[in-house]
Amino acid sequence: MARSSSLPAVLFLLVVLGILAVGGYLFFQDMDPPELTLSPTVEKISSGQPLLVTATDEKSGIKSISVYVRKGGHGKTIFQQEFDGSATTQTVTFNLKEAGFNEGAFDLEVQAADGSFAGFGKGNSITKSYALRLDNTPPRFSIKTQPPYVRRGGSCCIVYSITKDVKETGVMVGEHYFPAYRQPNGDYICFFAYPHFMTSQEFQPQLKAVDLAENTARARVPVYKVNRNFRRDTVDIGDRFLNTKMPEFESLVPGDMSPAERFAIVTRDLRAANAAALLEIGRQSAPSMLWNASFLRQPGATRANFADHRIYTYKKEKLNVESTHLGLDIASTVHSPVGVAASGKVVFAGPLGIYGNLVVVDHGLGLQTLYSHLSDIQVQPGQDLARGDILGLTGETGIAFGDHLHFGITISGMEVEPIEWLDANWIRDNITARLTAAGAEAPDLPAPRPPAASARSGARRR
Ligand SMILES: [Zn+2]
Repeated sequence: MARSSSLPAVLFLLVVLGILAVGGYLFFQDMDPPELTLSPTVEKISSGQPLLVTATDEKSGIKSISVYVRKGGHGKTIFQQEFDGSATTQTVTFNLKEAGFNEGAFDLEVQAADGSFAGFGKGNSITKSYALRLDNTPPRFSIKTQPPYVRRGGSCCIVYSITKDVKETGVMVGEHYFPAYRQPNGDYICFFAYPHFMTSQEFQPQLKAVDLAENTARARVPVYKVNRNFRRDTVDIGDRFLNTKMPEFESLVPGDMSPAERFAIVTRDLRAANAAALLEIGRQSAPSMLWNASFLRQPGATRANFADHRIYTYKKEKLNVESTHLGLDIASTVHSPVGVAASGKVVFAGPLGIYGNLVVVDHGLGLQTLYSHLSDIQVQPGQDLARGDILGLTGETGIAFGDHLHFGITISGMEVEPIEWLDANWIRDNITARLTAAGAEAPDLPAPRPPAASARSGARRR
């Protein structure tokens, strides 16, 4: 009697539990589709350019990603991948090589599905559509200037145009990149160097451009190379220099070592780190010329030239380090005021390793001047300077043998022969007249003067 009356109650309870389970499942199940991103976000794309799809679904994981292209009524799946759904994020890469269609507009549809049971096991899915344009045509160059003459260690410039919009262009010299600067008329100006450390066989400048679809073009830049040899010098490091200078470098090159050993490490390793810093500073350049007159030379005697190769001795013993002196040393009276060679903007003012207290002034188009070993800096980064403005006082901070100005010139961070830029005739023949002839804006420098008596007379190391 008792059993027969409880049976309907048990059935009722099971039905209620069943309804709750289904309701709960429906209530708690994942109804949200995955999130989907395509990168890079571009409008133009070349066939080989890798595209990246990232799909994320926190609740149910990613089950599949597919990519479909549609162009002119035809469509094709060019990418399809299934996953077991255990990972909440999946990233896949693909390109358009499989699509096999011509250049022009097309639609890219990217679909991702999660691992939930929604849609009877298909999962929640999302489809995003992107309107893109296939572009496989690399840019082409047209150089508007005659091939430049360039001396080893020196500078030159070219003007060129490109057939299409680019996101990056300039001249490659070995591994070194000299960016070009786009002018208001659409042409590009590029200043580049024949690095002092390259032989004429090694110096093979190449134009490079990367367009918005990542098509890359390269072309040889014809140049007339003029070889030259640089001086070799032996510098004896005395105890007085080591004992007064090396304590300054103990924090930069720490460790238990003799002053002569520290000098070798400073000269070798710190110099390399400082050269890398100059490359970074060299990128901070205005896209137009900030100067409009010849460059001023600091008064005083030339004590060392550009690219003098130095071998060091200590107590007649050769030290295990050599260096190349990448500037002009000019000495006059102690703590002489230093004027900026041409108008520009201060991009660096502070201590930098072997350079001691350093000011770097940008003159635009990658050209910068360096003022090193200063005892006092009187300008701030960001400050605009007019030609001749005083930026500090000479001194002997950093690796300096006595009070002098170390004057350097860089092009996109690479040190070049300053003598060229201190010669108004050279600037006119090699820079401004060439730019003007190619239709670019350039200052009209005063009529040439007869060449000055050699600035090198009396040159000695310092
Ligand atoms: Zn120097």
